[in-house]
Amino acid sequence: MTEPDRHVTDATPLLAVVGGGQLARMMQQAAVSLGVRLRLLAESPQDSAAQVVPDVAVGDYRDLHTLRSVTKDCAALTFDHEHVPTEHLQALVEDQVACRPGPQALVHAQDKAVMRARMHELGVPGPRHALVHDAAGVAAFADGVGGFPVVLKTTRGGYDGKGVWLVGSVEESRAAFEAAATADVAILAEEKVDFRRELAALVARSPSGQAAAYPVVESVQVGGVCAEVVAPAPGLSEALATRAQRIALQIAGALDVTGILAVEMFETHDGLVLVNELAMRPHNTGHWSMDGAVTGQFENHLRAVLDLPLGSPQAREPWTVMVNILGGQPEAGPLYDGFPHVFARDPGLKVHLYGKQVRPGRKVGHVTAYGDDLEEVRDRARHAAAWFRGDLGDESE
Ligand code: ADP
Repeated sequence: MTEPDRHVTDATPLLAVVGGGQLARMMQQAAVSLGVRLRLLAESPQDSAAQVVPDVAVGDYRDLHTLRSVTKDCAALTFDHEHVPTEHLQALVEDQVACRPGPQALVHAQDKAVMRARMHELGVPGPRHALVHDAAGVAAFADGVGGFPVVLKTTRGGYDGKGVWLVGSVEESRAAFEAAATADVAILAEEKVDFRRELAALVARSPSGQAAAYPVVESVQVGGVCAEVVAPAPGLSEALATRAQRIALQIAGALDVTGILAVEMFETHDGLVLVNELAMRPHNTGHWSMDGAVTGQFENHLRAVLDLPLGSPQAREPWTVMVNILGGQPEAGPLYDGFPHVFARDPGLKVHLYGKQVRPGRKVGHVTAYGDDLEEVRDRARHAAAWFRGDLGDESE
């Protein structure tokens, strides 16, 4: 008798994940429930996800050899971040590795100029924009959109507001060009959208084309960092919510995205939605769904990349509010010390800590509250996050 093929006898798939941040850590949480095994490529054994995934390789995601060895025998490859070079992903695809999302899709989350050009082709509404190469280019662009201020962005490598500048004059554009030259990337100029608020539309999409759209949420950004998410976006008309979901589904289909696609949008004062940015992985604006939806984004991401039927994205309660825990007061003490107060005060609250070293402003966890009274739910979530941050140290309530 011939030796049985391990892949036939052991049907439990192994899923490779590049990146050891909190998104991979929360994928592991979903993987545990599904009995799916993850193999992680982390940058350090201390990474948030490396602490909780037993099968971890420490290495450089920019090295093709490393990527090849991590993906060996894996059913699919997915990502905690979008920084793997496109040419390496193309090489892996040629090796028959199922990259989900694939390089042709992912490039739209890696390069803002490529994304803007494609959105334009698809007729998806967005801010007016142009690649600019120097100060004269910025001046000409500003003239064309009714003057300063304008927004400048590095086309690649930005996150959490790093790589984004609001500039009020040609002189102020200098910092952006210096940063772009150092990083060897281009600069994209965009009109400054006078938005009413920021929204996000998340969809999960599987290789066979099944898609599930989460309720459209409002995200509140502070200093370029997501601070709070309310699901669903309060007061959003059904028509606009449907339009935002349709746009996200259209993009997911047209780009052949697999896994979670997060579409960050601006809602304008005259009732339009404009696409700001795409992310092709679980996203901060979807964290509410872990506790607040029938199927959380991490589980649906895994189901999607493994081409399993998707779960319902519906909310469990009328309102869910997620507030990020950012590293705060140095004297705040370990995050764990926040548990007695937070849990005693609010038994309905859910807390997720990422196992990360606390540094001022760093995302180290999030809290989620849900219920039927938005103000109350929001207060509960804000209070808990502020407590962990050390901002309410003197309050007994
Ligand atoms: P990042 O890659 O850092 O997430 P984004 O493109 O999402 O960069 O920009 C970060 C934040 O900057 C946005 O959430 C929004 O608040 C603001 N911003 C970005 N582009 C514009 C724009 N064209 N008009 C107005 N504000 C913008």
